[in-house]
Amino acid sequence: MVLQFDMGARWRGFLEEVCHESIATFSLLWPEEQGLEVRYGDLQAYDPDFAADVLLHPGLSLDAARQTLKALLQDLGVDADAELRLIELPLDHRFVLREIRNKHISPLIAIEGIVAKITSVRPMITIATFRCICGYDTVLEQLDESKMTTPLMCEIHEGGCGREDRKTRFTIVHEDSAHLDTQTVEIQELPEKVKSGQSAEVMQCYLQGDMAGVLSPGNRVVLNGRLFRRAQRKGGRDTPIFDLIFKCHSFERKNIPLEEVTISDEEKEMIVNYSKREDLESLLVNSIAPSIFGHYAIKRSLVLQLFGGVSRINSDGTRARGDIHILLMGDPGVAKSQLLNYMVALAPRGQFASGMSTSGAGLTAAAVQHSDGGWTVEAGALPLADMGLACIDEFDKMGEQDRSAMHEAMEQQKISIHKATVHTTMRTRCAILAAANPSDGKFIHPEVDKKSRPYTQQIMLTKPLLTRFDCIWMMLDKPEKDDDRRIGMHIAKYRQTGTPEWLIDEGIAPAPTSEDVAKGIIDGSELIEPDLFQKYVAYAKKFIHPTLTDAARELIVDYYVKTRTEGGGINESGSVYTDGKKFGTESGLDSFDSVPITARSIESLVRLAEAHARTRLSDDVEIVDANLAIATFDVWRYELMGGDYDETSMVSGKTTTKRNQEHRIVSYIIQQYQNTDQTVKLFSILNEMEKHNISKTQVEGILDSLCNGGTLFRPLSNRNEYQPT
Ligand code: ADP
Ligand code: MG
Repeated sequence: MVLQFDMGARWRGFLEEVCHESIATFSLLWPEEQGLEVRYGDLQAYDPDFAADVLLHPGLSLDAARQTLKALLQDLGVDADAELRLIELPLDHRFVLREIRNKHISPLIAIEGIVAKITSVRPMITIATFRCICGYDTVLEQLDESKMTTPLMCEIHEGGCGREDRKTRFTIVHEDSAHLDTQTVEIQELPEKVKSGQSAEVMQCYLQGDMAGVLSPGNRVVLNGRLFRRAQRKGGRDTPIFDLIFKCHSFERKNIPLEEVTISDEEKEMIVNYSKREDLESLLVNSIAPSIFGHYAIKRSLVLQLFGGVSRINSDGTRARGDIHILLMGDPGVAKSQLLNYMVALAPRGQFASGMSTSGAGLTAAAVQHSDGGWTVEAGALPLADMGLACIDEFDKMGEQDRSAMHEAMEQQKISIHKATVHTTMRTRCAILAAANPSDGKFIHPEVDKKSRPYTQQIMLTKPLLTRFDCIWMMLDKPEKDDDRRIGMHIAKYRQTGTPEWLIDEGIAPAPTSEDVAKGIIDGSELIEPDLFQKYVAYAKKFIHPTLTDAARELIVDYYVKTRTEGGGINESGSVYTDGKKFGTESGLDSFDSVPITARSIESLVRLAEAHARTRLSDDVEIVDANLAIATFDVWRYELMGGDYDETSMVSGKTTTKRNQEHRIVSYIIQQYQNTDQTVKLFSILNEMEKHNISKTQVEGILDSLCNGGTLFRPLSNRNEYQPT
């Protein structure tokens, strides 16, 4: 161990030789900057033994460092009581919360996590001056944050009157005491490092001085500092069991997106090769939840969601989100929850939450007042999923408070909290994949019950909230013999081939690896294994920021204008509805469909197109991308609102046209298939339909929807060919 009297000299040597420039800069920044940050690596390179010693005996060592720094600053003519803050501690001194044991208590360590709660910033007395009634002052350093250390007596041989504390009264003289701003934050383990089924551990941490009031819930941080024990209390007495408290010495923010994903050169090459493949789209789509049958268009939108559009800061300072939000509405038992679970595992930084969450903070955030009057702000699921994917099941069952905060959280991607003494803004820059069940247990098809409302009104979500989703999928559980057999086979096959969990837990059988997944269980088709898929996504998000070409822009704007006008414009109540979906006039309900095409839709289309360009690793959003975005958009709108819904409702042009178009396409394919006994190629369908004035985008959208609904089928070997099922 380095002797105490030697420490100052060692620090002086290091600071003078290695840090003189940063000290000079710092002297100009004081007092705005209160601490000089020094990288541990620099100290280690200068004097490895001393550096190791600092980690083991941080208390004395850092005190010496502060005094040396103070002296050096004085030489520069600045009278500053600055902190010397060591950052970037070696990785073998960085721990996750669940690893922390008694032996970690004395050394300087780093813990990483995400800020889950913050309290209001309050002054704490660090050096307290107590005045006895005789007028004599006793000065005591306050080391324990949980209780004030008071003098036991007014010391006689130091000049006091000798009274014991029971016989006198000590009052604090604030003018002669030192105070520091103090804040308690609660750090929670990084969600992606918590195995599913475990709950994340938390740790209370103290931040002082200029470090207080800087962090917001949702921030990812590495905190450097030391652990302290504090006795647990039961019935007003201390117990022999201790809680651990972390006293922060310095911190580093870790909000750089996706930095935890490392991609090797070899993997990069594979990714680039994939991106050039003809069948890229089906390859990506098939790699999503292979155990779930069908749902091609839905899975395709989920691929786009993973890649995401580009978030931009406009020239006027406003922000346009790039994240794509998707809602899965559907009957119970159509694999919604299953899809969500799969996506949580696949997405970098995926987080699962339920709308019916039991935690007080729910999905967004909560501010709670303690019995002592202070406030704590607690982050809900969305801030904790910042920069990731939040999968929310039972979205329709979220609490009232979440409902109101959700609008801002989804569109502006932040949650602002102003409650009494706490003011904070949490970022919620995550894509949302939500699932919702119908409020009556099952969606009622208007054909079945003429009084039923549009699908979007059979769900407990308001229109403003619905318009914040880029895609809203309707997943109906309709009995269809052929389809049922195929799904049945598919599910049963998975149950046949899966490894019993018990055997895995007992160590008798190996758990399926991601290569097993990639071996392609479904019909032998090729898949990208989840690990690599995740890296593909991370690579594209990091390096590819595509911009719209003029041609693609034209296409999207044309589509928007056309859909608006075709839809018939504005209805009586002033809202826009489209596709002629004016519902239930017959049944006396003056309603229209709930998801009008609005200016927001343009942004959605651009995002979807950008995401598709990203899958191709292209920096330009081109016509193909715009077309795919439009097709995706068309399919969900059609499935949600178009199609057979018009049977009972008053229908105008578009839907009927669409049904005719659909009919035309299906009969053409059936006829061709029967004549030639071969699958029908996309280009021949396109050629034929052009004669009937049906555009390529329309045909593709309808084909997707027909495949999705199980009327048509495309062989996995060639996604551009179709046959009836
Ligand atoms: P939901 O959340 O929509 O109510 P779940 O995700 O709990 O439904 O799914 C119920 C079960 O049905 C799951 O075990 C799922 O695997 C199965 N299932 C339903 N549809 C499919 C499908 N298309 N392919 C594979 N499995 C399916
Ligand atoms: Mg469910």
